[in-house]
Amino acid sequence: MSNTPSTHRPLLLKGGRIVDPASNRDERADLLIHDGKVAALGQDLGAPDVEHVDVTGLIVAPGFIDAHVHLREPGFEHKETIQTGTESAAAGGFTAIATMPNTEPPPDTADGIADLVERYDGACVRVYPIGTVTGGRAGNGLAPLKEMAGAGAIAFSDDGDPVEEEDMMRQALRLAAELGRPIAPHEEVKRLTAGGCMHEGIVSKRLGLKGMPSAGEEQMIARDIDLVRETGGPLHILHISTAGTVDLVRGAKAEGLPVTCEVLPHHFLLTDEQVEKQGTAAKMSPPLRAQVDVEAMLAGLADGTIDTLATDHAPHTAEEKSLPFLEAPMGIVGLETAVGLSLTHLFHEGVLDLQALIDRWSCAVARILGLAGGRLQVGDEADVTLLDLDQAWSVDSRHFLSKSTNTPFDGHGMRGRAVGTIVAGRIVHRALSLSAE
Ligand SMILES: [Zn+2]
Repeated sequence: MSNTPSTHRPLLLKGGRIVDPASNRDERADLLIHDGKVAALGQDLGAPDVEHVDVTGLIVAPGFIDAHVHLREPGFEHKETIQTGTESAAAGGFTAIATMPNTEPPPDTADGIADLVERYDGACVRVYPIGTVTGGRAGNGLAPLKEMAGAGAIAFSDDGDPVEEEDMMRQALRLAAELGRPIAPHEEVKRLTAGGCMHEGIVSKRLGLKGMPSAGEEQMIARDIDLVRETGGPLHILHISTAGTVDLVRGAKAEGLPVTCEVLPHHFLLTDEQVEKQGTAAKMSPPLRAQVDVEAMLAGLADGTIDTLATDHAPHTAEEKSLPFLEAPMGIVGLETAVGLSLTHLFHEGVLDLQALIDRWSCAVARILGLAGGRLQVGDEADVTLLDLDQAWSVDSRHFLSKSTNTPFDGHGMRGRAVGTIVAGRIVHRALSLSAE
């Protein structure tokens, strides 16, 4: 989105319940937006020549931020483009996203990041690039992290692949400490997971498929926590999936180390049994694990060990996903299902209260990645997600704005969804149920 302030009329959100964990606010109030910023919060606000939106019965939350998105552009525009991916994000309730660097070419230089920043200008939500940790995202030496940060990289990751070379990760974490921007790794010991296409467990044995053991994730995380202890560099671990990982992160936090992590909806909801039921729609990395792991994700969310929610939105075409299981690509889309899944299964099932849920999608993400947003106080950027906590709906991938429909949640019944998305005071998505005058 463009950085020029909105020249639209002021916008007045009337009668909503403002829930802002950063200021511990939870009250029924109006919110007035002017010049892209929060101008006032209070009772019975009014102003001449404003656009009124009646948000009675809705939650007015600081904009949700998905820190783990694959937009596929440049290089794989047949799966997703910046336009379709950001429209999908807006429809799902996200005011900002961060993009993973497994594009072609991968952004592994300052020029590569600058090119992305330019491409993202004009998108309908804020888009922040994550740069690679290593050259070519392939371990070819450490990428110029400092220069990339200067060009706009908010974090560094070789997502899809680990940083296998220990000394490279040590150097990266040292630089991350200096720059104040985290290393956000995909954690996997490839030697242990080579050839694996699903979680190693009872189901993989039954299906005769090569599994990816939990140790493949946990051993790399243990190594990286040791490196954080040595360097002090901030580590934000992507898409954790095993019970052992939750224990490792809990321990690191107890030591006071700068270690944070995210979890994806499918890892707190689904097990490897979905592979038998849904085939390639349940193929991703890290894979769906066992029930004990799902329970550990819920416990980790509830006790704060898991800091953030994210989607790992990974579009692939129907043709690609219709390949035989071993050949089909890993990953599922998530931008248009994630908020509904978290409201349905975390909020309504009592895992997280509303403040905590909004924190995991907004405040905590902004804090860890050093982004604007994540709070709704006078003077803040007017990025807002409007939630209807009780709307009943079910997932129909034919209606996704994403170019791809690879989801294991088609037909899933939901309670609650994002019904409006406002970026810098502009409504970029509005559900039919949201009226205006
Ligand atoms: Zn990813």
